[in-house]
Amino acid sequence: MHWRIAARPRGRELRIDDFTAHDDGPREPLQPGEVRLRTLLLSCDPAQKGWMENAGGYAAPTNVGDIMPATGIGQVVESTVAELAPGDFVAGPLGWRHEAVVAAALLDELPPDRDHLPRHLGALGGSGLTAYFGMATAAHPFPGDTLVVTGAGGAVGSVAGQIGRIGGCRVIGIAGGPAKCRWLIDELGFDAAIDYKSQDLKAMITEHAPGGIDILWDNVGGDQLDILLGRLALGARVVLCGGIARYEQPGRPAGPSNYFNLVFRRATMTGILLTDHKADFPRARQRLAGWIDSGRLHTREDIADGLENAPQILMRLFRGDNIGKLLIRVADPL
Ligand code: NAP
Repeated sequence: MHWRIAARPRGRELRIDDFTAHDDGPREPLQPGEVRLRTLLLSCDPAQKGWMENAGGYAAPTNVGDIMPATGIGQVVESTVAELAPGDFVAGPLGWRHEAVVAAALLDELPPDRDHLPRHLGALGGSGLTAYFGMATAAHPFPGDTLVVTGAGGAVGSVAGQIGRIGGCRVIGIAGGPAKCRWLIDELGFDAAIDYKSQDLKAMITEHAPGGIDILWDNVGGDQLDILLGRLALGARVVLCGGIARYEQPGRPAGPSNYFNLVFRRATMTGILLTDHKADFPRARQRLAGWIDSGRLHTREDIADGLENAPQILMRLFRGDNIGKLLIRVADPL
């Protein structure tokens, strides 16, 4: 089976009827350069909602009726190219379907290590790479800096905070709920965590960052961003990675009222986009893998079962019902 986009969820929550399930038709023969894949795992990304809306203009445009786009990991079942053989594992734009036909040029071959496949959509996939490039190109961490990460219990935020720790920063995570906050401190080694759902963010950030924030990694936007902009240190770097607080809001969000603090603090604010850094992915993956192997970077995948449940699983991201990287398990490797 496969899922198609049935409606554009602009300015509102995702709904089940934004998607329609379809049976697969008869198999088409492969064209030269294509491979046929058995889908094993699919990545859940907040950006998928934006892709359905054609927001931002940075991804290939979608139409209602298209197969729901998603990055995934597949196993080759049939190949027309010499570089990929049946049984090989690859990552790329698979979409919400049990079986995908994809141009080999769009796929990255993965090592034959079936135990750690999920990692290639998390800390070694788009989430970890986003954290890596944002920290390397825009955050510029220095030992002793205070780094604050919003959305810290999710896929990108958890890696960004840990890279900050590796760079010698004092790291404060902001996340929804006590379980995420405990995980950040106990497992990932964050210095502090603030539960924005039950604690007063303004008071807590003053307590935990008395000297101000040197690096603000923002995945969320909205009120959290505004409050934190009011607590910047001199020369602060604000990295805008995501704005999930606005993804379900109608219209454009109001601008942060504390933006002028950037002037008072001679701070910079930089938007980052993963797709700008494709040429450097291999080197970044090597460094991330080295940190994982040496125990300095912890990875966590939150895996839910069943392509038939894909819409409900994706919606969990917008309720904060995930710790670490949310994935859909479609099938086990052969
Ligand atoms: P994620 O953090 O694993 O999951 C989303 C998390 O956002 C939820 O778990 C929830 O955590 C939080 N959230 C949801 N609705 C919220 C709201 N209304 N207000 C505040 N927090 C809310 O997702 P991710 O894949 O790592 O992505 C994080 C952000 O990075 C997203 O905005 C995404 O679009 C962005 N991103 C950007 C790039 C880029 O190239 N710029 C690449 C990848 C991802 P809580 O329980 O803590 O609320």
